[in-house]
Amino acid sequence: MAPSSLRADVFLAPAIPVVSSPIPDGAVPLWTATTSTLISSAHEAVLVDPLLTTAQATALADWIENTYPDKRLTHVYVTHGHGDHFFGLSTILARFPNVNVVATAGTLVHMEEQLSSSAKELWLTWFPNNQILFPASPPAKALDSQNLTINIEGHTLHAVPVGHSDTDESSFLWVPDLKMAVAGDVVYNGAYSYLAESLTAPLRQKWIDAIDKIKSFQPETVIVGHKLPGAVDGSWTLDATQDYIRLWDRLAGEAKNAEDMYEKMRKADPYKTGEFILWFSCQAQFPANGTASV
Ligand SMILES: [Zn+2]
Repeated sequence: MAPSSLRADVFLAPAIPVVSSPIPDGAVPLWTATTSTLISSAHEAVLVDPLLTTAQATALADWIENTYPDKRLTHVYVTHGHGDHFFGLSTILARFPNVNVVATAGTLVHMEEQLSSSAKELWLTWFPNNQILFPASPPAKALDSQNLTINIEGHTLHAVPVGHSDTDESSFLWVPDLKMAVAGDVVYNGAYSYLAESLTAPLRQKWIDAIDKIKSFQPETVIVGHKLPGAVDGSWTLDATQDYIRLWDRLAGEAKNAEDMYEKMRKADPYKTGEFILWFSCQAQFPANGTASV
């Protein structure tokens, strides 16, 4: 008998305040709205990226229980090592204790780095007052590199490593039944991309190549990690993110300093959300008292 069909649902955690130095145009510093995707069959479900703060993860757990009270959460998959996509794991595991948490081996190393005391310190600067409950280490099991799959009632989901995107050791989850890529932060939608770890042209080219890898699967739906609330999900975001990276590449060669870069980017691409991420990336590209690394 053919297995029953899969479906997918997206939980969008709204933007939340982040403690930051003032942004040049007076924009309120916010962490961009972040997605978590639930892929489910008749009786089971797989969650992709369990968010950042305890409040976000609690709302996510409530949503899962209210939406599919009879489905069993079997796996959590983490697309990449940035804490905004997995620190919420501690809350999710308290609610769904029998879940297998998995990631690629490369992502798992990066997750461990994010749980180092220096990395945690930065996250606590941005989100003070016990907003984050860090998961215990190690936070996941590495998928077998020869078999990067998750099975859910006869359906196979594929973890696809893509190397560098907005950080190293990124991946996406390919859902063949739905022709859907759950892209993590390889792709953005209506939100400024995080370029602070892509400060040279070769690294930015690697990110463009990572998006080409998703394109090679010919997805019909692409779920991004961060988006403008209300923005439609579609494969068009692949080209749009590549265009944005190329715009950054060009303007980083023309801007004089972080403020100038911020102004140029806002002028060239004014309708995106996530000014904090843009400002943070501009400061990384043009550090005060440093030289630009383009
Ligand atoms: Zn992110």
